[in-house]
Amino acid sequence: MIGLPCLGIKNLLSPYVLTGEKIAIFEAGTTNTAPLLLEGLDRLGIRREDIDYLIVSHIHLDHAGGAGFLAGELPSAKVLAHEAGARHLIDPSRLIASTKKVFGEKKVMDLYGEIIPIPAERVIPLKDGDLVDLGGGRRLEAIYTPGHAPHHLCLYDPLTKGIFSGEALGVWVEDIGVFSPSTPMPDFNLDQSVASVLRLLECDAGVVYFSHYGWTEDVQNTLYKIIGQLLCWGQVVRSGSEEDAGRRLARYVREKEWEQWDTVRLAQERDCGELLEWMAWRTGAVLAPGILNFYRQKQYGREGEK
Ligand SMILES: [Zn+2]
Repeated sequence: MIGLPCLGIKNLLSPYVLTGEKIAIFEAGTTNTAPLLLEGLDRLGIRREDIDYLIVSHIHLDHAGGAGFLAGELPSAKVLAHEAGARHLIDPSRLIASTKKVFGEKKVMDLYGEIIPIPAERVIPLKDGDLVDLGGGRRLEAIYTPGHAPHHLCLYDPLTKGIFSGEALGVWVEDIGVFSPSTPMPDFNLDQSVASVLRLLECDAGVVYFSHYGWTEDVQNTLYKIIGQLLCWGQVVRSGSEEDAGRRLARYVREKEWEQWDTVRLAQERDCGELLEWMAWRTGAVLAPGILNFYRQKQYGREGEK
């Protein structure tokens, strides 16, 4: 892991370097943090020309904003992203425009730095189930995990039983020891988010590596807690007028009611589908029709189920 500061927060971004016979970096960070990532490679004794793949979980600027700059510094690296996001790496104009609309022109440059387009021949689109073969028996599997963004993917590494979760599981706020759902407008989708966490539970992983920030070996407990939080947030936001949804959510987060939920016991006693039903009942959350069936048939997020 190469820890990076971002948005004024010391430990916010954590790209990973995965080595086999080939070498991959997971997450680019921003253009502003790219020099620190390169310094991290130097510290690890890895030469820039030996990087074969730069893989991003999604194209938000804190994950992929620096990919264009890094592509210039890593001469052999192909840049990999989900097929629905890859074209925005080649032509980032829409991405830049929408980010400027949110933050303002100067702020985008200050926060993230210049966004540099990547030549199309260096970009490889990934879809669910695709394998990135690093050689030496290490093959990373792309897991399509929409919700945080419609083009989000995680990686599963069978060799270490590790999930590289990008932002599908939200943000770990280390200082206060909680996980916060990450629900950006306009594309966040609650039901897809929950389904994606369920999907990650199926991996039977022994460790989760977050992109924000660090890792945990307490996988099952953490994933169930995140499902509970997502459903709670959904319910809080839906429980009154749109105008004061933010205030309700802030109050709810302060009170941290979700911590009282005994999700670990439930996870042990029930199968996951039942747990979801129970949580939906407990919170009054309205799940998209068919989502439980999607899960039961273990199809959601797979090829043909976009
Ligand atoms: Zn992010």
